[in-house]
Amino acid sequence: MPSKGKIQPGLLGRINEWRVLRTIQRSGPLSRAELARATSITAPTASKAVEALLRDGWLLEEDDADVRRGRPAKKLRVPSEGAQVLGVVIDQPQCRLVTAGLDGVLRDETRFTTPESYAALLHTALTWAQEHLAQPKVRTHGLCVAMPGLIDYTEQRGLLSPNVHITDGHTPALDLQNALGVPCVLIHEIHSLSLAERHSGSAQGLDDFALMDLSTGVGFTAVLRGQPFTGHRGLAGELGHITVNSGPEARLCGCGNRGCLETEVSDLSLQTAMGAASLDEAIARYNAGETEIVNAHLDYLAIGIAAAIHVFNPPHLFLNSRFLQECPALLPALQSQLAIRTLKPALDDCTIRLAQGNKSEGVIAGIIEHLTNALLPTSLQELHLLDPALAP
Ligand SMILES: [Zn+2]
Repeated sequence: MPSKGKIQPGLLGRINEWRVLRTIQRSGPLSRAELARATSITAPTASKAVEALLRDGWLLEEDDADVRRGRPAKKLRVPSEGAQVLGVVIDQPQCRLVTAGLDGVLRDETRFTTPESYAALLHTALTWAQEHLAQPKVRTHGLCVAMPGLIDYTEQRGLLSPNVHITDGHTPALDLQNALGVPCVLIHEIHSLSLAERHSGSAQGLDDFALMDLSTGVGFTAVLRGQPFTGHRGLAGELGHITVNSGPEARLCGCGNRGCLETEVSDLSLQTAMGAASLDEAIARYNAGETEIVNAHLDYLAIGIAAAIHVFNPPHLFLNSRFLQECPALLPALQSQLAIRTLKPALDDCTIRLAQGNKSEGVIAGIIEHLTNALLPTSLQELHLLDPALAP
């Protein structure tokens, strides 16, 4: 970070805009006086940042609905109408197209069967986004693509997605940005889920936690001091492809290996193992007493979770799985298995709870986070490390 004396006045202005926006995103509507107090920025300086954010459509200022003592007070808030962000969730067996206001509240969600070619996927997403961009009196601030697999963040490119191979080698966000002319960003679905979990889910107020998504494949991320640990190139966290079953019956994984954690314990793989036509059917059958197949796979999940706990020592681990959410007997059974597979002090140090994961909320949290941080020059986008209270 440059020394204080060398910071350009324009740069300070950008930092103040970021601080003001982040504070209102976190605290909700504030008057200008409340904002100056909350940010410790002098009123004239905060006012300058507010004007810039109002001009760019990031804030609205309007009469407070909750006026007390008959004195009107104007509040600044993030707009829920007249402005939007878009999200594309690439997944199996369905993808999602999501819209939301800048406040992150979802407006609508469309699902479609994952196409068999990248060109078809891009065409569907592009046609949908163009329709939304053409809406009168609504400004589209940006779009996020969330997807699983290995993603090179420096190139915004999917490298290898064992569950959605059509994205391998492609740059969906850059391709959409070139066609649409609005900022588009690619984010790993587990990072988008961790943002949503922190913003409105089980991890609110937590700077250190781990998240394991067990829905389609197995995604994992450890958030350390407010930042997901991504490895040097963004490829860290692929716990789903550690081998947990080396037996002859181990199923072939989309990565080419056999017996990967995700072929044994994801919701989709448990459904497949039960021969159920849908996840709803599989869960209903489990709750009706057909527990043998799922219970036989619990030890693999315990092995995977033990690896995560031993490597990262997270104080909290959140599990995102409809099986775990809708089958009350499963989490206690998993805890018993974890007691066998994990060193006791490490397990005692980690609370394991269910996530409230939602990939639609995740992709929207991803674009709002990206656009908010884009207010800052790249070199300062980790400023919140200096000010943890303003971390995402
Ligand atoms: Zn694999």
